[in-house]
Amino acid sequence: MPATRRNNRADALAEQVAPPAWGPAEIRALADRIRTGADPAPWDLLVVGAGITGAGIARDAAMRGLRVLVVDGRDLAFGTSSRSSRLIHGGVRYLEQGEIGLVYEALRERRRLYKIAGHLVAPVQFLFPAYRGDRLPLWKLRVGLTLYDALSLYRSRGHRTLGPAATRRLEPLLVAEGLRGAVSYEDAVTDDARLTLTTLQSARRHGAEVLTYSPVVALRREGPLHVAELADGVRVQARAVFVAAGPWTSEKLLGASGRQLLSLSRGIHIVLKAADLPLRQPVVVQAAKERRILFVVPWGARTYLGTTDTAYEGDPGASGVTTADADELFRMIGRILPSQGSGMTALSAPGPGFGRWCAPPRPRAATRRSSCLAATASSRPRRGCSRWSAAS
Ligand SMILES: Cc1cc2nc3c(=O)[nH]c(=O)nc-3n(C[C@H](O)[C@H](O)[C@H](O)COP(=O)(O)OP(=O)(O)OC[C@H]3O[C@@H](n4cnc5c(N)ncnc54)[C@H](O)[C@@H]3O)c2cc1C
Repeated sequence: MPATRRNNRADALAEQVAPPAWGPAEIRALADRIRTGADPAPWDLLVVGAGITGAGIARDAAMRGLRVLVVDGRDLAFGTSSRSSRLIHGGVRYLEQGEIGLVYEALRERRRLYKIAGHLVAPVQFLFPAYRGDRLPLWKLRVGLTLYDALSLYRSRGHRTLGPAATRRLEPLLVAEGLRGAVSYEDAVTDDARLTLTTLQSARRHGAEVLTYSPVVALRREGPLHVAELADGVRVQARAVFVAAGPWTSEKLLGASGRQLLSLSRGIHIVLKAADLPLRQPVVVQAAKERRILFVVPWGARTYLGTTDTAYEGDPGASGVTTADADELFRMIGRILPSQGSGMTALSAPGPGFGRWCAPPRPRAATRRSSCLAATASSRPRRGCSRWSAAS
């Protein structure tokens, strides 16, 4: 396969050119071409799934000169890539587990995204409070964030440590009782679906084709080629296949190698009217019992809270949100950010919720690779199964 990578200047010029038109007519024409075999040569690469992983892989491959086809069973960013916490961050919490390399890599990717997608990835000051009896006391937060600054090579605004009064001046909604102070530090937020769409548009600019609403029902090998069967019986031939089907990655798609590859876990968000929780900046909340943190993020007229982390089995698209999930979130967050006025009313707890996904506790190397929003072109090491996401 050709592997000619364009230089940065050529890439930058290409990004300024509008991508080829892409609407129902173009998608129909592509589907017809595939169906009638008008284009008999096999694709260099077939990417199954148009989430951020598929988008990043397709963009990278197209930039290397490969003929790429991306196929999604639903719409672009239909899966977890439009249902994340919308954070582009280095994973502060991974410092606690000594995942220095992971955090360094994530911060490097954040820097890269600031550069190549500055209109979509915005730096924001996060407030990480510590209360009496918290698992992470203020001194630990301070040490952690000092390391975080160093791992970002001091290219972001350095953290600040605040006493209780200064913390409440910044965020008056925080419960005063037991408050020891907080650390204010920089991370970033993004519009996840738009980042995915933009990455796919960039892939298309470099020649990739994208077909939506065409689920792959089977993948098999025929001689040197891979053959994907689409739901309408159409066959697609490719020299290589990358399965980026997120939580849907299954035995059906991967054959025997996909057996028990993933164990699912459900993570939900709750969206409130901003008036119910009018925060001034994102706040990080420590879970009281588990080793995990949650985020409360103001987003225009809304504030969203997330996430839970519950083991799940079944179809990821039907995971739903239970009252227990919502109660758990409100309980954990209400501990330091009680409801305002008449109380919080969830505007939406996304209908069919989507599971986080991760590999079950198998050999380390195999279980700790996954993708996240920041990994636009490559996968990223993650935590093990029970605490999965590097950037969520
Ligand atoms: C609750 C939660 C919060 C998160 N928060 C963050 C965060 O703040 N920051 C961050 O960086 N990451 C976060 N993540 C992680 C991030 O969302 C995921 O790592 C990322 O979206 C995974 O993208 P993906 O492309 O691999 O999968 P997905 O986005 O799920 O894409 C898979 C795609 O495959 C398609 N597909 C499935 N089966 C088939 C088939 N048979 N044929 C064709 N297409 C198929 C689906 O339609 C879907 O579009 C969070 C995840 C969760 C669940």
